[in-house]
Amino acid sequence: MDYSIAKHALTNKTILVTGAGDGIGKQAALSFAEHGAQVLLLGRTVTKLEQTYDEIIQAGGVQPAIIPLDMMGATKQHYVDMAETIEGQYGKLDGVLHNAGLLGILSQFDQIEEDTFDEVMQVNVKAQFLMTQALLPIIKKADKGRIIFTSSTVGHHGRALWGSYAISKFATEGMMQLLADELSNSTVRVNAINPGATRTTMRASAYPAEDAEQLKTPLDIMPLYLYLISEQSQDLNGLCIDAQPK
Ligand code: NAP
Repeated sequence: MDYSIAKHALTNKTILVTGAGDGIGKQAALSFAEHGAQVLLLGRTVTKLEQTYDEIIQAGGVQPAIIPLDMMGATKQHYVDMAETIEGQYGKLDGVLHNAGLLGILSQFDQIEEDTFDEVMQVNVKAQFLMTQALLPIIKKADKGRIIFTSSTVGHHGRALWGSYAISKFATEGMMQLLADELSNSTVRVNAINPGATRTTMRASAYPAEDAEQLKTPLDIMPLYLYLISEQSQDLNGLCIDAQPK
């Protein structure tokens, strides 16, 4: 499948990226901006978001906005307020990339700590649920709204020792599928991406002994992200697509 999109395909689009200060989310923000989007950079570490912001400006991109938010503690009201602010400033939201995620502690099922389970489910599932609920009205105001969730290989094939993280990614795929089905008669499209092994901090903490140089970089997997966030993906809905198909 050819996922290439035109250089300015995202011009006049406002796109929110969560976890935009590091790893895949940072690269997605840079790539969306490179294709003309105005990117809203959401994350918990402001210095990292400022770095992404500076790189977008230096590359000649549209001025982004920074949304400092810790998805661990954020409540429904935070997301409602955020949606109101975005609507007030931009009138609509063309796309959201749910990318921020937490690995938690990988352990055998009977050793999963309740606190770890709660934290991972909070950031990877509940925060995305609340954020999507709050943003839906302004995503529907866009001509062709896009919602992208981030799953994992362990989000559709249970694998020993992947604990809360795998459970959270199954939930993410379920949320994506039901939302896609509910919105199938609209112009909004909802899909998920399985990035596959990618050279980031999260990957390094899951596989500390591997040679990271052998892994694809976030930039390598961007074509699928760009395609799904663009208007070209109108025919795709309710899918979890591998960014690195075997
Ligand atoms: P990463 O480098 O660890 O980046 C994760 C991002 O999420 C960071 O920007 C982090 O912010 C943010 N984040 C974490 N907790 C947050 C919170 N409470 N509030 C707001 N932001 C928070 O990970 P990555 O590898 O790029 O992962 C991106 C996505 O891809 C995740 O959903 C992950 O599950 C998925 N994924 C990755 C791989 C892989 O091989 N890398 C494979 C399959 C799936 P800080 O920088 O401030 O910590």
